[in-house]
Amino acid sequence: MADQIEGQVRGAVDAWLRWLPRWQVGTARGRTRVCRTCFGSPVAAAAGFDADVPHAVQHALLNRLRHLVDAEVDAYTTRNLPLVTRELRRAAEAEASGYRPDEGLALEFDGLDVDPEPDPGQPFLFTLAGLAAEDAPSARAGAAAAEPEFSEEAKAALRREVALADEHAQSVGTALCFALVEHRERIHDAVARLVEPQVDELIAELSRTLEPPS
Ligand SMILES: [Zn+2]
Repeated sequence: MADQIEGQVRGAVDAWLRWLPRWQVGTARGRTRVCRTCFGSPVAAAAGFDADVPHAVQHALLNRLRHLVDAEVDAYTTRNLPLVTRELRRAAEAEASGYRPDEGLALEFDGLDVDPEPDPGQPFLFTLAGLAAEDAPSARAGAAAAEPEFSEEAKAALRREVALADEHAQSVGTALCFALVEHRERIHDAVARLVEPQVDELIAELSRTLEPPS
């Protein structure tokens, strides 16, 4: 597995290095929420990213790597964990039939609230979040009846499989971090060459604007 991860990490870093010249400091958007992929991520530490590297730059690499871990864990689960696979399929089927306004959005809207702030004087007729809640599987008639009954034995077996999936995700994550450390220098060089000058220029420009006219 480690060899395979190494090759995939190399590929992900290569792809990120090809993308990085297109990044521009002006196109960076502020986020309304802390990013769960990047904030406090051990993968960010393994890449050698510090707080000075803009989030969009970090996210482009870390998100790619997260997909890599997800795909590896999915493959392992499908191969080895029949109970978890069955439960995931059931959950996906239930979800696919519901209304999900927060999915499949363009990247710039991803993670934002689906509805605007309510105005107390002008209540909405409906909200997208409200429609999604009405259409949720648990709210639909008959959904409860379709829920399977688990014996204690079956629950224990499922818990064992979930623990195995967690363990595998941990070891994939660790292997990925070790593989990534090998590319730190390439990552650092690219950031120094393509990102830092833009950030420095922006800061210089801002301080020029803020200086009182002489
Ligand atoms: Zn992020």
